[in-house]
Amino acid sequence: MIHFNVPPFVGTEFKYMQEAVNNHKICGDGPFTKKCNEWLEKRFNAKKVMLTTSGSTALDMAALLCGIKPGDEVILPSFTFSSTANSFVLAGATLVFVDVRPDTMNIDETKIEAAITDKTKVICPVHYAGVACEMDTIMDIAKRHHLMVVEDAAQGVMSTYKGKALGTIGDFGCYSFHETKNYSMGEGGAIVINNAAYIEKAEILREKGTNRSQFFRGQVAKYNWVDFGDSYLQSDLNAAYLWAQLEVADQINENRLETWNKYYTAFKPLEEKGIVQLPIIPEGCVHNAHMFYLKTKNLEIRQAYIKFMKENDILCVFHYVPLHSAPAGLKFGRFDGVDENTTADSDRLVRLPMYYNIKSDDLNKVIEKTLEFFNSETK
Ligand SMILES: *Cc1c(COP(=O)(O)O)cnc(C)c1O
Repeated sequence: MIHFNVPPFVGTEFKYMQEAVNNHKICGDGPFTKKCNEWLEKRFNAKKVMLTTSGSTALDMAALLCGIKPGDEVILPSFTFSSTANSFVLAGATLVFVDVRPDTMNIDETKIEAAITDKTKVICPVHYAGVACEMDTIMDIAKRHHLMVVEDAAQGVMSTYKGKALGTIGDFGCYSFHETKNYSMGEGGAIVINNAAYIEKAEILREKGTNRSQFFRGQVAKYNWVDFGDSYLQSDLNAAYLWAQLEVADQINENRLETWNKYYTAFKPLEEKGIVQLPIIPEGCVHNAHMFYLKTKNLEIRQAYIKFMKENDILCVFHYVPLHSAPAGLKFGRFDGVDENTTADSDRLVRLPMYYNIKSDDLNKVIEKTLEFFNSETK
């Protein structure tokens, strides 16, 4: 069986987790958490990074830090994971879904301005597949309308837009280190805080509403409950697992890009014959090979392809059911403008096995079976 995803494992994870145990420090903000935060800050030139328990809770923090109040509106794509939407719903916002661009499946920046009302507070672009949204345009819109920007960069760790790391461009960026992501600790994430005015607030929010972080730095004599908060600190055991991977982040990245490029080269002839569409990486974007997807001509062909691959012991998957058409999406939001691409293109999209160190025999089999399927009849 060729799995769709295998969690990354580089070999030093157990050693570091053992070290965390020996340190007698397995709660949050231990030595491995600090190493990870500092690595992410330095590597991505980010003001402040804090590990969290998931990408979802990083988004929760961002929504709360934006000061969302009931009735506020948040603009986001409908083609995304439920987490992007949940955080804003939990904070009381109404969702306003905007169509995606067919080339990247990212929010169509040319359709954002029409969706802005006097209730709009936040734009939340999602860097789908680790390929950047058109951030210059989005930041310019946000500036002109006094909106905050939360980047859902769950899939975008190690990707850049015009040289800037994804997650470091908006007011906040959110990463995921779930086992399906490029770098993992099982469940985990991080919030990137690019607006220094929010660092102290974020520290309090994640420390159960206390100023314990200031206390540990000797800035206050005792720590106290100072505001509302929750616990978003990741265990140092998980951070130890992640640290093993951050240490060799380039190796993981290059390995994934190699796989991605092999797929791309192998399927280029299919695209030239008009049988499938391949992902497009716009100028100025450097991606991280988070996923490899194809678009078939229609839904029926996609389903037949997934079935064919499964019969050959290869797992390919599709996503997302557009949020605006889902029961919760209908309840919590509305689609602004015309759905030209979101539904039509999500129906045609299929993801191929993609993970660190996929065996070359397995990769070749995926390629071979895919070519066999699409070349067999007129697809
Ligand atoms: C994975 C993902 C999340 C959520 O991350 P978790 O760590 O699983 O909570 C949010 N948004 C997008 C786009 C994702 O792909």
